[in-house]
Amino acid sequence: SIIRSGGGDILSLTTEQHKKIDRHALINERLPLAIQNGELSVVYQPQLNLKTGERNVYEALIRWNDEVLGEVKPYELIPISEESGLIHEIGDFLFRTVAQFAAERIKEEPNFQVAINSSIREFMKDNHSVTLQSILNEYDCPANAIQIEITEKFAFQAEEQQSITRQMQQLQQLGITFALDDFGTGYASFRFLQTLPISIVKIDKSYIQSLVTHPQTTKLVEGLIRLCHSLDIHVVAEGVEQEGQFKMLKNLGIDAVQGYYIAQPEAF
Ligand code: C2E
Ligand code: MG
Ligand code: MG
Ligand code: MG
Repeated sequence: SIIRSGGGDILSLTTEQHKKIDRHALINERLPLAIQNGELSVVYQPQLNLKTGERNVYEALIRWNDEVLGEVKPYELIPISEESGLIHEIGDFLFRTVAQFAAERIKEEPNFQVAINSSIREFMKDNHSVTLQSILNEYDCPANAIQIEITEKFAFQAEEQQSITRQMQQLQQLGITFALDDFGTGYASFRFLQTLPISIVKIDKSYIQSLVTHPQTTKLVEGLIRLCHSLDIHVVAEGVEQEGQFKMLKNLGIDAVQGYYIAQPEAF
């Protein structure tokens, strides 16, 4: 098929590309309704703390099963909603769901925390930290029951970075903890550690996957753990699937592990 752009160029698309565009358009069309009708849900995956043996941190992961589109994975859903701006509504739904869940669980388990993935784009709204604070109040959720995981997918202008940093600092003062997710895959890992109030680093699963087979990766992860510890940063491995990975990470002194080897994400 053929698309004529404004300039009169002709682009020829493969069937595969065409399918992708259709699905993209359908997601954009159906997502607002799905949000309105409460069709998004959240599953939770525990981390095992190797220092205490506790499983008291759960990562919240969004799920959407649409009757037309089938399962829409976060890697499709999140970038498309970042583009359209719907990420703010999704973030709002997620934060409310999690605040309610965490407020319940922390009553029985004082160290309970839920980790929420947040697009750093959400922090580009000036009053984001105030919004989060009022949701916590609404659900009577202590701030220390919440971790926010951010990724480093984007580069920022200096002014943006200032506002993001300020809002994160406000939330940290309330008791929220910040984790840098997918560490090692993005733009500015080390700069973020230097400038943002990060107290946890999650090593990306691509490193965990080659940990046992690639001695270079082992060295890298070992050094990373040591570096983080010297900065008082807690280190978590994500995507731990095998006993060999688990044992090696334990020997390397990692603080916590998450992955199918420990537990699958589950609905509550
Ligand atoms: P992430 O934050 O790094 O989350 C970990 C992803 O790894 C999850 O995929 C999880 O289901 C998957 N996983 C867990 N254990 C294993 C394992 O042992 N092996 C492998 N191969 N994978 C494992 P999921 O749920 O598909 O989410 C993908 C990404 O989408 C997340 O990566 C996160 O960046 C983003 N995401 C998910 N939910 C949300 C959300 O509510 N808001 C935002 N902004 N992003 C979200
Ligand atoms: Mg995450
Ligand atoms: Mg991750
Ligand atoms: Mg990821």
